[in-house]
Amino acid sequence: MYISSKRGVKMTKLSGFNVRSSRQTEWIDITAGVQQAVADSGIAEGICVVFVPHTTAAVTVNENADPDVPRDVDYALNMISPDRVEFRHGEGNSAAHAKTSLVGPSITLIVTGGRLLLGTWQGIWFNEYDGPRTRKVHVRVMGE
Ligand code: ZN
Repeated sequence: MYISSKRGVKMTKLSGFNVRSSRQTEWIDITAGVQQAVADSGIAEGICVVFVPHTTAAVTVNENADPDVPRDVDYALNMISPDRVEFRHGEGNSAAHAKTSLVGPSITLIVTGGRLLLGTWQGIWFNEYDGPRTRKVHVRVMGE
C-alpha cells in the first residue's frame, strides 16, 4: 500500500565514496564526506541515510573530539566480543562479524538548512573491524 501526500518527498539522491582503512580495527571520521554528499544533493530539508555494504565494518555516530572515546568504545566492544576458540566461521573473523552486528550497517540523520543536524561533539564514524581494506559508503539523501 502506498501513502501519498501533497508534500511528498520531492528529491532523492544516491551517492557514495570509498574509505581505505590501514589497520585491522580503525575508526575513520567520514563526517566531511557525508556532509559533502548532502551538499551535492541540493536537498535542503530531509533525511540522510548512510549505509555500509559490508559484514565486518559498520557506521556509527559518536564523539569526534577526544580520540580516547573511539579507543574506549573499542575496549568495550572487545570485552563484549573477544576472539574465541569456540567460533566456527572458517574465515576466522567472527569477532569482527559480531562487532559489526552490534554497531550496525546504517544510520539515519536529519538534514536541515542543507546540512546534517549533528550535535556539537558528534561525528560520523566508519568502523573497520577486519582491515586493512578498501570499503564503500553509500549515502541516500531524500527531501526537498
Ligand atoms: Zn567472515
